[in-house]
Amino acid sequence: MRTPFVAGNWKMNTISSEVKDLLGSLKSSLADVDGVDVAVCPPFPYLSLASDILGGCRIRLGAQSMYWEEEGAYTGEVSARMLKDVGCELVILGHSERRHLFGETDAMVCRKIRKALAVGLHPIVCVGETLEEREAGKTEEVIETQVKGCLEGFSSQDVERLTIAYEPIWAIGTGKTATPEQAQEAHRFIRGWIDQKFGREVGNETRIQYGGNVKPENANALMTQPDIDGALVGGASLKAESFAAIVRVAM
Ligand code: PEP
Repeated sequence: MRTPFVAGNWKMNTISSEVKDLLGSLKSSLADVDGVDVAVCPPFPYLSLASDILGGCRIRLGAQSMYWEEEGAYTGEVSARMLKDVGCELVILGHSERRHLFGETDAMVCRKIRKALAVGLHPIVCVGETLEEREAGKTEEVIETQVKGCLEGFSSQDVERLTIAYEPIWAIGTGKTATPEQAQEAHRFIRGWIDQKFGREVGNETRIQYGGNVKPENANALMTQPDIDGALVGGASLKAESFAAIVRVAM
């Protein structure tokens, strides 16, 4: 049985007063939640603050990106060790906005995953196709290239320590959502690929989140699909009410 996992990607949103409000509300509205893993990923400058607010509560803290080097002359970058140091347990890697706006490639994501695992951070590895690629019938080909490139050289034990997020790019921040059937088809394909490459046990255990316009109204139809194990939530994670409602659906 895979425990559902719901993570909120706050992207470049919130300032400290909003971080305090949002986390304060989430802590109380999710205090009784059980049987689902929950995480929030605020912007870098507020990770320490978020860590202090979350204290020992069950909401885990993650970052939205990181660099693979340990330290040094990498202006503007943040290391995995720094993330651990401020209380992060996980990190989103290869988000489509990182890939498309900042030029991250599968090979770069692969290096980042390796470093994250080495310091004990749990990576959420994002993959997904553009609308053009879907319409050209290339969805599976694109996803396969991404998972293959990102997980190049990893062992089954490594893969057991990460989560995959399937996020069709055409559904991110656009108001469009993949139908539960479209999402399930992609998730089944990813799980099948992991089965083949790393063994059935790893395939069975690996959590695959769906991301792309998840909101309380569509969360149930998506998360009841057999291969969808939770959600990576963008916009709806910025409101305590909608994020908490999605977490409750996952329960
Ligand atoms: C995301 O960016 O990971 C995402 C899924 O965004 P949204 O929920 O806003 O579509």
